[in-house]
Amino acid sequence: MSTSQASPIAERLQHVLDTLPADGHVRLVAVSKFHPVEAIRQAYDAGQRRFGESRVQELVAKIPQLPDDIEWHFIGHLQTNKVKQLLSTGRIALIESIDTERLLMAVDRHARDLGVTARVLLQLHVAAEETKFGFSPDELTSFMNSGAWRNLTSTHICGLMAMASNTDDTRRVLADFELASDTFNAIRNNPLLDDLRGFDTLSMGMSGDYPLAISAGSNMVRVGSAIFGDRVY
Ligand SMILES: *Cc1c(COP(=O)(O)O)cnc(C)c1O
Repeated sequence: MSTSQASPIAERLQHVLDTLPADGHVRLVAVSKFHPVEAIRQAYDAGQRRFGESRVQELVAKIPQLPDDIEWHFIGHLQTNKVKQLLSTGRIALIESIDTERLLMAVDRHARDLGVTARVLLQLHVAAEETKFGFSPDELTSFMNSGAWRNLTSTHICGLMAMASNTDDTRRVLADFELASDTFNAIRNNPLLDDLRGFDTLSMGMSGDYPLAISAGSNMVRVGSAIFGDRVY
């Protein structure tokens, strides 16, 4: 028996990686919110480089304690008054949770002021719950068709993020993911939007539902508890 055992986090990370398609087209965001820096370090040491956090304060505190080659994703509800603090880190690879046009414009303004380009996903609301944030499919489609995104100077819309209903009913979950996928593909295939470059990311799927999300076309999954264990709030 080996004396140096892989950590449980490394083992669970490997298990998740083993369940993703072998061709590598699905990227894994390890969602480390509410977990300490040491837990992130274990996943990092096992090779993971892409991490997701949902609170600005927590992310800003973690960034300087961890290696510089981590690709940080912001996945939580973002208040406009926190945008500047988030972008000022200079370390945010992707803001996945742009849930209003107003927030998008605020991100663009602060990115311009800071002289950076913000990469973002627009959050689509497809779940049954009233409490989830995001554009409805109709709102999103009309926002894209309005062409208002062409006025962005410092923001790159890279795709969509969605969450399915929080239910054991897999047919409902799959229907939510398929609606998100259809909305994504309709935008990508709309000839009126063919100047929309690099709109290629569909982020959907969490610990409990990521295989279903992948079957519906997700190419980015955000997995937390299946890697890090239960969160202690
Ligand atoms: C917390 C969170 C996740 C990860 O959830 P798990 O069920 O722990 O995998 C994914 N996406 C978002 C937006 C989250 O807030």
